[in-house]
Amino acid sequence: MKKKSLIFALLAVVVIVVLNLAVDREGRREGVFFAMGGIPVRVVAYDRTRAQFREDLRAVEMRVERLEDEYSRYRDGSDISDINRAGASCIEASHDVIGIVKRSEHWWNMTGGAFDVTVGPLVDLWKDAADKGKLPDARDIEAARSRVGMRHVRIDDADRVCLMKDGMTIDLGGIAKGAILDAVAADLEKRGAKRGIVDAGGDVAPFGQGPFTIGIQDPLNKGELLGVLTIPAGGVVTSGEYERYVTIGKKRYSHIIDPRTGMPAESLISVTVVGPNATDADALATALSVMGSEAAISLVPTLENFRAVIVVRNEAGEYEVWCSADLAELIELTPSWEGSLKTF
Ligand code: AMP
Ligand code: MG
Repeated sequence: MKKKSLIFALLAVVVIVVLNLAVDREGRREGVFFAMGGIPVRVVAYDRTRAQFREDLRAVEMRVERLEDEYSRYRDGSDISDINRAGASCIEASHDVIGIVKRSEHWWNMTGGAFDVTVGPLVDLWKDAADKGKLPDARDIEAARSRVGMRHVRIDDADRVCLMKDGMTIDLGGIAKGAILDAVAADLEKRGAKRGIVDAGGDVAPFGQGPFTIGIQDPLNKGELLGVLTIPAGGVVTSGEYERYVTIGKKRYSHIIDPRTGMPAESLISVTVVGPNATDADALATALSVMGSEAAISLVPTLENFRAVIVVRNEAGEYEVWCSADLAELIELTPSWEGSLKTF
C-alpha cells in the first residue's frame, strides 16, 4: 500500500514535459503539462503574447497543484484526507472543498444516490480485490457499503465537513477533474485570455467566445475519435469502463461502483455529457455510467442544459450511439460510426 501511494504521489507531481509556446496564424497557443495522476492537461488560448502565455501556464499548473492539495484523498494533508481521517469529528474545509461537496450532494439527490462521493470504502475494497485477484465476499461488500452514504455527510454553519459514520471516506474522483478544469478555465479568462480550451485527457472546459469543436474518443479504438461536437460553450466530460477497469478472474470490472449494491457498475461503454460546465458534466457522466442506458435516456431530457452521447451494445451485440435529440445537429460521427446514430 505504501509503495502504491508513493507511486501515486510521484505521478501526481505536476511536471511540464511539453511546453509549446509557438503561435499559429490564428493566434492560437498551446501548452501541455501532466497532473491528476499523470494525465496530460492541454491548455489552448488565443490572443496571448508568448510571455503572457508562459505565465498563464505557470499559474495554471500551480492552481491545479493547489486544488489537488485540497481534493485528493491520496495526498497527505489535503482537506479531503483530513476529513477522511477525522472520523466523526468535523473538519474545517476550504471554500473550494465545501463547494464541491455541496455540488456532489446535489448530484446524489438528482441521481437517486447513483452518484455518491462517499463511495471511498467500496472503491478501496474493489481495488484491493483487484490487487489480490480475488473477489470480495458478500460480507466484506456489506461492511463497506454500510460505511457509504451521502446522507451521513453534514456541512455545519462554520463550513466544517462532518462524516457521521465510522470509517467513511470521501472520494472526489468522479467530480474533481471537472471542477479543476472549470477553475483553470475561469483563471485563464480572468488573466485576459479571451478564448480557449482546457482539456484533461479528453474532458474539456472551453471558455470565452465559441463555437468550439471538441473530439469524443472512440471507446473501442484507442486514439481514434467517435466523432466531433460543435458547441457554443459549456463542459464536455466522458466516463465509461473502456479506459479504466480491473480484471478479476476473467471478468472486467469497472472502477465506477454502484453505491446502492456495492458492486462495480455494469458501466455503459462510454457516456459523454455536455453540460453548462465541466464540474456538473463530470458528476453526471459518472452517475449515468452507474445508472445504465435506459435510466440515462430517461433522466437526461429532464435536466435543463444537459445533453448526452451514449455508446451501448444492443441485444444483437451491435454497438449503437445514442444522443440527445438536440445534439444530433451538433455531432458529426466518424464514418465507421455514422450508421449507428439514434436519438432520444
Ligand atoms: P469518472 O472517471 O469521472 O467517471 O470517475 C470515476 C471515479 O469516481 C472512480 O475512480 C472513483 O474514484 C469515483 N467513483 C466511483 N464510483 C462512484 C460513484 N458511484 N459516485 C461517485 N464517484 C464514484
Ligand atoms: Mg465523473
